[in-house]
Amino acid sequence: MRSQFGHKYRSDQGGTPLPSRPRSAGRRLSLMANWTVLVGEIMPERAALSDRISRRIRPEPGSSYGGSLCQVWIGPLSRKGYGVTNSDDHATTVQVHRVAYEAAKGPIPRGLVIDHLCKVPACVNPGHLEAVTNAENVRRGSNTKLTMADAVAIRDEFSLPNPRTKQAIADAYGVSRTAIRLLLAGETWVAE
Ligand SMILES: [Zn+2]
Repeated sequence: MRSQFGHKYRSDQGGTPLPSRPRSAGRRLSLMANWTVLVGEIMPERAALSDRISRRIRPEPGSSYGGSLCQVWIGPLSRKGYGVTNSDDHATTVQVHRVAYEAAKGPIPRGLVIDHLCKVPACVNPGHLEAVTNAENVRRGSNTKLTMADAVAIRDEFSLPNPRTKQAIADAYGVSRTAIRLLLAGETWVAE
């Protein structure tokens, strides 16, 4: 499996593979290299944070958009399912997908929100993120996210003998099957 980032990195290097490196280490290196280059050029003050984030994402084979896989944050999630982490000075909590967007595309224009085109809130693939007005985000219906009450209800259902399928539950709540899977996998939910 190759991530979008992996492809980019390899092509940037003229297609030369990284020699004698374990596959997983090579992929992580390529992820980090891309982020560090992008962030170093656009937002040097956020390079450390972005580098830290790049170590905690992995491709999600079951979910893609525009031909590239979702890159899902494996750290703490907010109640709405967004990846969250501490800022470098530990003074604030930042949303990981917003850092990813800014690392790849530059600062988010004032007043705009980030829409997940792939409908996976924990995804940080910049190719799946678009800065839009809040009105546009609402119009697209992509503000549909699980509430804490939803999360409790879904976990309760799966503790019973005959739950609906993940896809049926995802359809009922208007979210992706991946969102349900991540919830049931027990990823941490924290207050925003
Ligand atoms: Zn995605």
